[in-house]
Amino acid sequence: LHAQLFQAQKMDAVGRLAGGVAHDFNNMLSIIIGRAELARMKLNHSDPIYKDLIEIESVGKRSADLTRQLLAFARKQTIVPEVLKLNATIKSMLKMLRRLIGEDIDLVWKPGFDIWSVNMDPAQIDQIMANLLINARDAIKGNDGKVIIETSNIFLDEAYCKKNTGFKTGEYVVLAVSDNGVGMEKETLKNIFEPFFTTKELGKGTGLGLSTIYGIVKQNNGFVNVYSEPDKGTTFRIYLPRYAGNDAESLPGNAEVNLTGG
Ligand code: ADP
Repeated sequence: LHAQLFQAQKMDAVGRLAGGVAHDFNNMLSIIIGRAELARMKLNHSDPIYKDLIEIESVGKRSADLTRQLLAFARKQTIVPEVLKLNATIKSMLKMLRRLIGEDIDLVWKPGFDIWSVNMDPAQIDQIMANLLINARDAIKGNDGKVIIETSNIFLDEAYCKKNTGFKTGEYVVLAVSDNGVGMEKETLKNIFEPFFTTKELGKGTGLGLSTIYGIVKQNNGFVNVYSEPDKGTTFRIYLPRYAGNDAESLPGNAEVNLTGG
């Protein structure tokens, strides 16, 4: 618990710092990119410096992309929670998620039956899903890539929470994203929720995806659980507390089967 509190405070500080620095940094980057472009336009294509300037511009632009992500991370957005049926929320995102992972990877959607409601800002679900899917996509190398999105209900009892530190008893909706990608070694797993931790090449990752997810899930009194095996794949499970009020989704025999997308 202490570790989690510390993590949350650290992320707050990182967010404030990042926001301040990113703004100024972005202004300086525009000057670098702009001047490089001006200088390049004065040169002939055959000039040996021409290629160097192109590289300065392109790395500058990639840096600008990263700073934009940083700013998004730091921005304190207004959260507007609503009572959500997770299956419907995810179904409405499927097109966007398919586009995100590309044509070559199989995307399977397995909505659970009679899923409880949660009280959350749908934009946060959006962020969680987009970040998990980007990571799943990047972890898949070669053919036969497959990503499965699943929902289920779970009751965590005393015995479970005694065995698994960090969990609290209660009813949760579980949102699971699995991939058959490269998986992670223990050493990597230890660090994945750290802001700025990334194993992706320069310009591909910010290391903010999972720390953003962590922040959102904590804010909603939920938990994140990761299971990963090198060369086998990874499953992220997001536990979100069941909405305690009137639960409209618990209609008997609702036809969840219709939602199963191919
Ligand atoms: P980023 O995606 O920008 O690197 P994240 O915080 O989203 O930042 O992820 C941190 C690191 O966790 C990744 O660089 C990668 O090493 C590891 N990781 C996250 N998701 C997966 C996954 N599904 N499979 C394998 N490794 C993963």
